[in-house]
Amino acid sequence: MGGVSTRLDDLPIRDHLRGMTPYGAPQAALPVALNVNENTHPVPQEIADDILDAVALALRDVNRYPDREFTQLREGFADYLGYGLTADQIWAANGSNEVLQHVLQAFAGPGRTAFGFAPTYSMYPLLTRATGAGWIAGTRGADFSVDAQDAARQVAEAAPDVVFLCAPNNPTGTPMTLDVIEAVYDATGGIVVVDEAYQEFAPRDSGSALTLLPGRARLVVSRTMSKAFAFAGARVGYLAADAALIDALRLVRLPYHLSSLTQAAASAALRHAPTMLAMVDEIVGQRDRISATLEAIGYHPYESWTNFVLFGGVHESAATWQALYDKGVLIRDVGIPQHLRVTAGTEAETTAFLDALASLDSAS
Ligand code: PMP
Repeated sequence: MGGVSTRLDDLPIRDHLRGMTPYGAPQAALPVALNVNENTHPVPQEIADDILDAVALALRDVNRYPDREFTQLREGFADYLGYGLTADQIWAANGSNEVLQHVLQAFAGPGRTAFGFAPTYSMYPLLTRATGAGWIAGTRGADFSVDAQDAARQVAEAAPDVVFLCAPNNPTGTPMTLDVIEAVYDATGGIVVVDEAYQEFAPRDSGSALTLLPGRARLVVSRTMSKAFAFAGARVGYLAADAALIDALRLVRLPYHLSSLTQAAASAALRHAPTMLAMVDEIVGQRDRISATLEAIGYHPYESWTNFVLFGGVHESAATWQALYDKGVLIRDVGIPQHLRVTAGTEAETTAFLDALASLDSAS
């Protein structure tokens, strides 16, 4: 074999995929990896053992297809979320990326549009366009916040079929208050997805959009086990919505999309939710330490309710990113000029990042 290799552009690829670039956060085996908002604390050993037992048990039946309705896992998520939610209001998939893809496959598609307030999670436009729908970028204030009146006006004007509200927002960390979500919901006849991937890192008394679900049949609240649960490698995301909306997602999912091993691992991890989440406070402490230190050495960190901090005042963001990389510290250039984003790590990782940055002296 071998010979001439074909370029992507030479293939009869669907027109709306032409010119798109795939999600591409660099994956590099650096000693300090703080670039994709993972939880850098490993799953505690006794829980890992319990998960392993559950997976071993599931393996005995792996000749059979898994429970297509992942009933036990949905019950686990309903219990974990609370607010009186029941299993028929829960959906799950391989990461919240797939959960969001299911929503778009059911409610976006050719001739339709999805909307988000930029800058926001980079997968929203990619997932949207992959269904053949158009992406509309709304705007945020100078500090990346969104206020209810302006948000409602923008959404009413764009009249999208799906609205993404990333709450709190990635890559900026910005909180979003419930009045914004209510105002946006009232301003559209479309689906409103509140992406709460980082909700567990927000202050305990900040309200979740889950409280807004009763009486709002077009509202979706998505979550993930990738962040607070330290389960990114297992690929488990989920959402809560009206039971009828969940039925719409059954139309687009692949049969048996959640493997029996994934279901077993996630259900076992959920049984240990309090311990799995024990690191959240520690991570929030490191996040606040990053913000305070960045401020002290001349950068401009933004308020964050997540496990990462976006900071401005970086003279040359590409050069600073590279200089940190050369020192073994991987963070993220999210494409906002003079800004970089860093995930809060363990205390030692966070110290390594802060020391490396301080040694560069590149605040503008
Ligand atoms: N939503 C947001 C806002 C994210 O930042 C991410 C991951 N970085 C996801 C969804 C997807 O996460 P996962 O597929 O691992 O659940």
